[in-house]
Amino acid sequence: MEKVIHDYFSRLEIISEPTIYDHLLLSLREKDYVATFNWDPFLLQAFHRNVQRFRLPRLLFLHGSVGAGYCEKDRTSGFIGNRCSKCDCFFAPTKLLYPVAKKNYHLDGFIDGQWKELKNQLRHAFMITIFGYSAPQSDVSAIDLMKSAWGNVNQRDMEQTEIIDIRSEDDLCSTWEPFIHTHHYETHCDFYDSWISNHPRRTGEAYINQYLMTKFIDNNPIPKEFGFEKLWGWYDQLKQVEESQH
Ligand SMILES: [Zn+2]
Repeated sequence: MEKVIHDYFSRLEIISEPTIYDHLLLSLREKDYVATFNWDPFLLQAFHRNVQRFRLPRLLFLHGSVGAGYCEKDRTSGFIGNRCSKCDCFFAPTKLLYPVAKKNYHLDGFIDGQWKELKNQLRHAFMITIFGYSAPQSDVSAIDLMKSAWGNVNQRDMEQTEIIDIRSEDDLCSTWEPFIHTHHYETHCDFYDSWISNHPRRTGEAYINQYLMTKFIDNNPIPKEFGFEKLWGWYDQLKQVEESQH
């Protein structure tokens, strides 16, 4: 069964024009993280075609991915088809975890490592954006893990949570209540209405300016209709400022 699923997802290929995956990755920076429950290779394929030009966020695959590989012995990971930098063996496919009530994350070295890193990062996160994830009903252990990492909502009084989902706001808030500090959340039906999309590569800075410094700031939305060359040129302007500050 796992092999059939693995083979099916492995054959999927991202379209050649920029997609929401490219826009998301290009709009974040090295210090950011994208964690996904999806098995498909689209995020990694988008990463691959943009990473030569830009420093991109780190990716975490919480249920494994057909595009990611792992060396159990050296605890290294990378694109499937690439080799481990320590022992030079090809990376083995990662396990794919199924959406069941109880998961044993700790039984698989790769997935265990991905969750540990997510928990570490969530402790220090300032903004978190959640994309259409129907937790907690479907995934009790995932929610428990995130809850313990995110900590007590009452002790986190500045963080901003944003939820991109087509469900109603009431429905979303009851689902995500354990994570959301009073008033510090927004919901949107469309990624292109989000803080990330309206302030690419400057999302946290834009938020701080507007709400903590009360300086009004203009949106700088992703030009989503651009092809790759024009799109990369547009992001280059932001990159140059980042590099001049190093
Ligand atoms: Zn190795």
